[in-house]
Amino acid sequence: MTAGASGSIRVAVMEGDDIGPEIVRSTTRVLDRAAQQHGVRIEWIPLPAGIAAVDTEGSTLPIRTREALPDIPGWILGPVSHRDYPIGDARYVNPSGYLRKNFELYSNVRPARAWPGIECVRPKMDVVIVRENTEGFYADRNLIDGNGELRPDLDTVISVRVVTRRASLRVARQAFAIARERNGLRKVTCVHKANVLRRGDGLFLDCCRQVAAENPDIAFDDFLVDAFAMRLILRPDDTDVVVTTNMFGDILSDEAAGLVGGLGLAPGLNTGDEHAMAQAVHGSAPDIAGKGIANPIAEILSGALLLRWLSRVHAAPMLVEAADTVESAIAATLARGESLTPDLGGTATTESITAAILAAVDAS
Ligand code: ATP
Repeated sequence: MTAGASGSIRVAVMEGDDIGPEIVRSTTRVLDRAAQQHGVRIEWIPLPAGIAAVDTEGSTLPIRTREALPDIPGWILGPVSHRDYPIGDARYVNPSGYLRKNFELYSNVRPARAWPGIECVRPKMDVVIVRENTEGFYADRNLIDGNGELRPDLDTVISVRVVTRRASLRVARQAFAIARERNGLRKVTCVHKANVLRRGDGLFLDCCRQVAAENPDIAFDDFLVDAFAMRLILRPDDTDVVVTTNMFGDILSDEAAGLVGGLGLAPGLNTGDEHAMAQAVHGSAPDIAGKGIANPIAEILSGALLLRWLSRVHAAPMLVEAADTVESAIAATLARGESLTPDLGGTATTESITAAILAAVDAS
């Protein structure tokens, strides 16, 4: 498939909860402007997802959304407040977990790099965390029916963790492909706890070693998660691409984000073989929802990652150029330091930082 004679591509947009609609609208505006600059028109397909959809369509992930998504390769999802969804009410599905699992978006790719102009703990850091996305300790992903947390009596909970060879191999292969594409150390680090979780993490590590043997041009090492959590702070320059299981990846990507400027700058892309979903690392930030001060950059950068992925699907190199334009515009805006939102120490609003990024796109 190409971007078509008309130069247009379709992208699904799900706004999510709390700050979701605010930052997703900034994202579509910036991507639109950058894509237009490179001769591509993005046709946005809005689809309901999140709490607002319960009132209008009876579910946080309505049938209409589930049925439309298979035909659209690229999606944007705003953060969802799934922790507040009532347990046991079938109308409240976690859209994020459901989509990752059911559409086999098996790797969650989370780059963490420092930005000029933004003070941070580790200014030279530039790593990518590739998190397994479809199993592990996340109860909503672990069983075909029911939930991976069991409560045999009031005072006991058993949580089931799933690790499979298939999921471990495919996420490891994705990590090696990223290490090869990137202009970095050309190294993959497997992070695990195989000394204690000998079977589960042992299987994950074995799979990573197998894929390392298939990719002798890429260096490989592995660390226990506790040691690695410290090492990432002390010696981040030794790390390039990290591959790890679901929960470790969740935790380490917030740590990595904290080292390079915070959650407001941390993008993510959930990728499978057929579909990819842009989704910032952060949650729905209910404490600042509706105040107009959410930082949209993490979501916009996630959108740029999606454009890079879509450039392969549509054989459209101009989407890579559009992603470059978005990232350069954000770098220029951050470097100027005038339009920073409160999480970055400034007083800008979502609207004013979006306007600054749009102006930087126009100026590029
Ligand atoms: P989840 O578990 O769903 O990822 P979380 O517990 O990590 O959520 P967040 O919703 O990410 O929590 O919020 C953590 C803190 O970071 C909050 O104080 C929130 O306001 C802030 N925060 C998160 N995202 C942004 C953003 N885009 N702009 C500004 N502040 C943000």
